[in-house]
Amino acid sequence: MNSSPLPIVRDVAGLRAVVRDWRRAGARVGLTPTMGALHAGHLSLVRAAKERCGKVVASLFVNPRQFGPNEDFDRYPRDEAGDAALLAGAGCDLLYAPDRTAMYPAGFATSVTVADVSAPLEGEMRPHFFSGVATVVAKLLLQTMPDAAFFGEKDYQQLLVIQQMARDLDMPIAIIGCPTLREQDGLAMSSRNAYLNAEERRIAGRLNHILHDAIKAFRNGDPLVGVESEAARHLVAAGFSKVDYVAIRDAETLAAPAAGRACRILAAAWLGKTRLIDNMAV
Ligand code: AMP
Repeated sequence: MNSSPLPIVRDVAGLRAVVRDWRRAGARVGLTPTMGALHAGHLSLVRAAKERCGKVVASLFVNPRQFGPNEDFDRYPRDEAGDAALLAGAGCDLLYAPDRTAMYPAGFATSVTVADVSAPLEGEMRPHFFSGVATVVAKLLLQTMPDAAFFGEKDYQQLLVIQQMARDLDMPIAIIGCPTLREQDGLAMSSRNAYLNAEERRIAGRLNHILHDAIKAFRNGDPLVGVESEAARHLVAAGFSKVDYVAIRDAETLAAPAAGRACRILAAAWLGKTRLIDNMAV
């Protein structure tokens, strides 16, 4: 039962009927795709969407196609009723929460793959990930047909992949990146932070500080490779069990940084069974 004041639709026909009525009334429409277990970072996307577009759809779908066989799909936190209440409070107008068979009916056979910007970093560590993301986001965009869709810079490479896809496929939808919301100690908010025990949570707060230190060293002229490996060493010394990467890259292409172009530092590291990512402008 839907006990929150937020209307919920679970199929494309229902979604399109609501969006069509909004458009007839002259509204602009924003979309914020999520996998639920919402926190203030997600809600900041809803607020940004509400500011730019009069009507906001949030989608909630834990997308099996972006999880690898040994990843956390089964234990990913799920709380639709709690999420709906939070969304309503943030000004969301509609929750679109399709189930797995509505999204991927029997016989579903299409997959969207974005080359180049998908390849390094997360693409190397999680080879299935970006085609899973691009496929589901393409579907969500085409199902909703919003004027704009809002994504967090928290998942920076994902944002670049989606922007590339929307450009390449001539989707008439603005893809808007929104800043990362952080906890008091600077830890980027994430649904996966709920997996951390107290000691891991303490260590997790070091990640953003170590990236800030790396940025300082890079700006002071320290060589790139040394800056990246030193940051990885500091993460392990702080208690991270494994570092997938710390990399300073071109902010648009994720290629090696070049003089005069904006750069980004990106990192992924493990605390026990929990994998954290973060990034910031250099
Ligand atoms: P997820 O539910 O993790 O798939 O995230 C849904 C959207 O929320 C994505 O566009 C994320 O980049 C964004 N997001 C996640 N964490 C944050 C954060 N701390 N600040 C801002 N946006 C975020």
